[in-house]
Amino acid sequence: MEWETVIGLEIHTQLQTKSKIFSSASTAFGAAPNTQACLVDLGYPGMLPVLNREAVRMAVKFGLAIGAKIAARSVFARKNYFYPDLPKGYQISQYELPVVSKGSVEIELEDGSSRHIGITRAHLEEDAGKSLHEGFEAVSGIDLNRAGTPLLEIVSEPDLRSAKEAVAYMKKVHSLVRYLEICDGNMQEGSFRCDANVSVRHKGEQKFGTRAELKNINSFHFVEKAILYEVQRQIEVIEGGGKVVQETRLYDSKKNETRSMRSKEEANDYRYFPDPDLLPLEISGEFIEEVRKTLPELPDRKKQRFMRDYGLSAYDAGLLTGSRELADYYETVVKAVDGEPKLCANWVMGELSAALNENNKDVAQSPVTAVMLSELLKRILDNTISGKLAKEVFEAMWAGEGDTDAVIAKKGLRQITDATAIEKIIDAVLAANPQQLAGYRAGKDKLFAFFVGQVMKVTQGKANPQQVNELLLKKLRG
Ligand code: ADP
Ligand code: MG
Repeated sequence: MEWETVIGLEIHTQLQTKSKIFSSASTAFGAAPNTQACLVDLGYPGMLPVLNREAVRMAVKFGLAIGAKIAARSVFARKNYFYPDLPKGYQISQYELPVVSKGSVEIELEDGSSRHIGITRAHLEEDAGKSLHEGFEAVSGIDLNRAGTPLLEIVSEPDLRSAKEAVAYMKKVHSLVRYLEICDGNMQEGSFRCDANVSVRHKGEQKFGTRAELKNINSFHFVEKAILYEVQRQIEVIEGGGKVVQETRLYDSKKNETRSMRSKEEANDYRYFPDPDLLPLEISGEFIEEVRKTLPELPDRKKQRFMRDYGLSAYDAGLLTGSRELADYYETVVKAVDGEPKLCANWVMGELSAALNENNKDVAQSPVTAVMLSELLKRILDNTISGKLAKEVFEAMWAGEGDTDAVIAKKGLRQITDATAIEKIIDAVLAANPQQLAGYRAGKDKLFAFFVGQVMKVTQGKANPQQVNELLLKKLRG
């Protein structure tokens, strides 16, 4: 019997407003515990929340980017539960009437096909504080700096059918919120995290199976691993004659397993009701149009344009438009180099991306700027250096040894393009290897590569490879 996986994600994105969603306290990350929680965030009696207009603007921006419906009137509701890091005893969220509903994004799969994934809703809410366990003995610490930080919770339809699709979807939303500049996307700091709802059913079946909710996963890699583990666990439960129970589970990345945390609350456990301290949120058509004007070129569009304007494959264009910063970097290089989009793409996706990955850096932190890389590529194109030595120059620039021309001069990497000089070296190589020369003349064509190698060795890789090939062929034939 074949099994099918069904997944729906709830993604929590922290909106990058300066102040909190209902108070003027700062949202900056990393401050000393409890220094950025004001009376509203602490839930003091009699304090009144005031909605942050920026948070609304960002939610609308996201809604427009996913082709969703923007509610002219939406309502904030209290979601009641007790948690040590939730001093009010309730979280202000949106329930029946979210600000954004019925949108979708397109994801691309490894085989090149694409699928539309429905987004049920995206609603505004406040984050809770944090309970701290590390560094405490027998007690926990409470840090309320995060309390009241604006979140946009993005809830997908149960449209995803594999762990890979879930990752592709999560990456797409991540890329989108960063393009829109509404979330910094920093997953380590928890600015972008998700709950994965997972169930299994027999292929062909109409009804969904019972789901488990995997809480608070903050890496693409862990989402994939957690889902794969959970799917296997559920299949084993059912095949063993048992039943999957609806519950909340935690993924332990060290052990690579999910563990039951609590049975799942139903909505009615939360006793949602409209928050009497907040008026309904009314959004005018004018406001929506104003926000629409601030939409940047979005990743799908940019990808199409890269394919059209630069003749790139869908795969290359997809990689290069994965983040706005990378796309901007690439375009700066292409424009400066002029006429070599594929060479530029190879360097950005190759050397640059590898170095960024290896050093765990974003494009914005690259020591080799787009201008520096374009200078390097120009030196390849005008034959000052070979492609191979260019990699050495790149490494030196990455290490902070100066720009292209300085590194070439300092290391003496300038390519030898003087035909007379190359011919002299070839003559010397042939004279030094009479046996190989005789062998080549006797029909061992493969020895050609040997001679090329010798010339490159003598010149420390600096002879222009194309000239070496041509001149060597001429000599051997002559
Ligand atoms: P809650 O807020 O209680 O978690 P929702 O009904 O809003 O519940 O659903 C949350 C997420 O669970 C959505 O992303 C939805 O697509 C997903 N989901 C619902 N039913 C299933 C199911 N049977 N299997 C997998 N995912 C599901
Ligand atoms: Mg949920």
